[in-house]
Amino acid sequence: MKRLAILGSTGSIGQSTLSIVEQFPDRYQVATLAAGRNLDEAFAQAVRWRPRLVSLATEELAGQLSARLEQAGITGIDVVYGTAGTVACATWPDADFVVSAIVGVAGLEATHAAILAGKPIGLANKECMVAAGEILTVAARLHNVPILPIDSEHNAVHQCLRVGQHAEVKTIWLTASGGPFRQLPLDQFASITPEQALKHPTWVMGRRITIDSATMLNKGLEVIEACRLFDVPPSQVKVTVHPQSTVHSLVEYVDGSILAQISVTDMRLPILYALAYPERPVSTLTFDLAALRHLDFEPPDFERFPCLRLSFEAARKGGAHCIALNAADEVAVEAFLARRIPFMGIPRTIEKVLASTPEAHPATIAEVLAADQQARQTAHALLA
Ligand code: MG
Repeated sequence: MKRLAILGSTGSIGQSTLSIVEQFPDRYQVATLAAGRNLDEAFAQAVRWRPRLVSLATEELAGQLSARLEQAGITGIDVVYGTAGTVACATWPDADFVVSAIVGVAGLEATHAAILAGKPIGLANKECMVAAGEILTVAARLHNVPILPIDSEHNAVHQCLRVGQHAEVKTIWLTASGGPFRQLPLDQFASITPEQALKHPTWVMGRRITIDSATMLNKGLEVIEACRLFDVPPSQVKVTVHPQSTVHSLVEYVDGSILAQISVTDMRLPILYALAYPERPVSTLTFDLAALRHLDFEPPDFERFPCLRLSFEAARKGGAHCIALNAADEVAVEAFLARRIPFMGIPRTIEKVLASTPEAHPATIAEVLAADQQARQTAHALLA
């Protein structure tokens, strides 16, 4: 029986994780839930799963949840809040496995603390790896903690890497759906609205990651994530646009063999893989091979998707540039959703923030967070 700490329990990965727990009650239990700001969902999850500890974003929300649990006559659940609360969930002594699915750098400290506490990590939070991958992977090696990627592409790569040696890997190919604007003429990019950008062709996800898919910044973050997770330089990671989103990623070996991972487009599969690794439990997530008609692959268009070019540049510089890329994008996406900047204002903002970021390699989580704050301030100042 694995007891799970789920960080980001009310988000889409958190909810999919809980549906896995529902399907495999003999394998998984919920130990702690870090839920953020969605009080109603946090209450429903606490009632259903009876964790020992629940964390919410603020003291006020935590007080409201405690009151509602008391009213419902539910005891035995401690309610905490803030970063300290998330860290407490991540390092809970009885938790055997941590699902890190808080969007943004908010989950960074808790993920780092979980690694230091020796907890295996299922990582869905790519910003952690982008902002602090150099620190997290070193800590994970030191504490002998596996980091199992839940992001579908990295999960696919992890699977494909199990058949070869590290030195035999030539290229990691990350597939990209291309988002909703794959075929939109470049001259129409200026008038893209938030509504258009929020319609993703294959995945239903949170708002920021959906916009990041439309700009392909998401794929850029995944390039950096792949470099850190699999210990390869950016020159060994390539992106291929694959609109069917059937092949989740590929690994090309030096002998010319290319291995691909194919499965249904459902996040429960990579979550289950991470939770059960190195086992493969029987699941109902089958893929109908006979229904497969086309597998298209095309090179990405760096002109229409400058965020991808900026990401490779940041990946080569590493450290503060990767932090700034992520932070500037988060600020720019908020501004785009609030209709304060146009769609192409997102890459323009990121490019300016990167240009004003000095090359540096933060060595602690505190330094990472400081660099993150610095980049956000620069981005806000540019947009003001
Ligand atoms: Mg992905």
